[in-house]
Amino acid sequence: MRFRWIVICLVVLYLCSGCTQNNTQNNTQNNTQKAQQIKPNAKSEQPKTLQAESATPNLAGGPEKKVRKPHPLSLADLRKKYRSTFILNGPSSKREVALTFDDAPDDQFTPLVLDVLKREGIQATFFVVGNRVEAHPEVVKRIVEEGHLLGNHSYNHANLPKISDAEFREQVNKTDKLISQYTGYIPNIIRPPYGNISEGQIQWLASQGKKIINWNVDSLDWKGLTPEQVETNVLAHIKPGAIILHHSGGGKGEDLSCTVDALPRIINQLRNDQVKLVTVSELLELDIPTK
Ligand SMILES: [Zn+2]
Repeated sequence: MRFRWIVICLVVLYLCSGCTQNNTQNNTQNNTQKAQQIKPNAKSEQPKTLQAESATPNLAGGPEKKVRKPHPLSLADLRKKYRSTFILNGPSSKREVALTFDDAPDDQFTPLVLDVLKREGIQATFFVVGNRVEAHPEVVKRIVEEGHLLGNHSYNHANLPKISDAEFREQVNKTDKLISQYTGYIPNIIRPPYGNISEGQIQWLASQGKKIINWNVDSLDWKGLTPEQVETNVLAHIKPGAIILHHSGGGKGEDLSCTVDALPRIINQLRNDQVKLVTVSELLELDIPTK
C-alpha cells in the first residue's frame, strides 16, 4: 500500500514537472514570437526615419551611375579637338552672320521662308534631309534657283552616333547624291541631326573633305514659341560670326510660323546694325565644292 502511494506521488510529480517544462517551452515560444514581431517593426522604423529626414527627391531617370555610360569625349571636347572640321561659328572679325534652316524641305514652311528671304534679298543655308528632298523636289529646285546654299542633314534624320559605320556613310552618301542632282556638285558641309556626332564619324567626314556645321545661336523655333520669343532668342545672343539655327521643315503637327513671322524683324534689326547676312560658305570662306 505504502509503495503504491510512493508510485502515485512519483507519477504526479513527473506529470507536474512535464507541465512546467511545457509551460516554459510555450513561454519561450511566445517570447520568441513576440520578439520576432517586434524585430521587423524595429527594423522598418529605422529606414522610415532616415527617409523622412532626407528631402532630396530621387532622380526620375534613375541614378547617375546606372544611366551614364562611359563617353570617351563630349561634344565640347570634340569641338576643341577638331576645330577646323567641327564648326560652331565663323570669324568674329567680320560683321557677318549666317542664317541656317534645318529639316528642309517641306511644302508648307520652306516656301514661306523662301518668300521672306526673296523679299529681303537674303541668301541663306538650308540643311536638307534626303528623304524630304525626294518628297519635295520642286522646293529643292527653288532653293537652289534662288541662290541659297544646300547642306547635308542625313537621309532620314538619324541620331548618327547610334548607327553603324555602314549606315552612317549611307546616310551621308545617299543625301549627297540627291543634293548633287540639283546643284551639280557634292556638298562639303553637313549638319548632324540634333548636332550629335561621334569622333569616328568626324574623322571620316574630315577624310572626305567635309565640314561639320553646327551653330552658336539657337532660335529654339521647334518649341512652338511666339515670333517675339524666336526674335529674342536670336537677337539677344547674336555676335559677329554667328551661325543661327532655325527650322524650315515641320514634321507632323509642327508649327514653324513663328520663324516665318520672326524672320523679317530679325533681318531688319541686323541690317540696322550693319550686319551682313551671308551663306555658311561665305562666312567661313569655304572652297566651292567640286563635282
Ligand atoms: Zn534636324
